[in-house]
Amino acid sequence: MACFRKYKLDTSLRLNKPPSGTRPHELHTCEEPSKACKNYTANLATIAGSGFGSWNLCDDHLNRETVERLYKVGESWGSY
Ligand SMILES: [Zn+2]
Repeated sequence: MACFRKYKLDTSLRLNKPPSGTRPHELHTCEEPSKACKNYTANLATIAGSGFGSWNLCDDHLNRETVERLYKVGESWGSY
């Protein structure tokens, strides 16, 4: 249900930027939904407590709008 998803994002969304000096092997391609972005990043967006939801997103895509689009894809918390 859409309003539950919004509630979940309001309360559980975390946008994590690692400290500078991240080593290259920790970088991942940006997972923004259109797959058009080829940036490498160590940023990680997570939805706390869902058991699902963490995405590597570059600086351009590490924002709530992008996570909202990704979160729709894998709704997996059952019968709300
Ligand atoms: Zn990106």
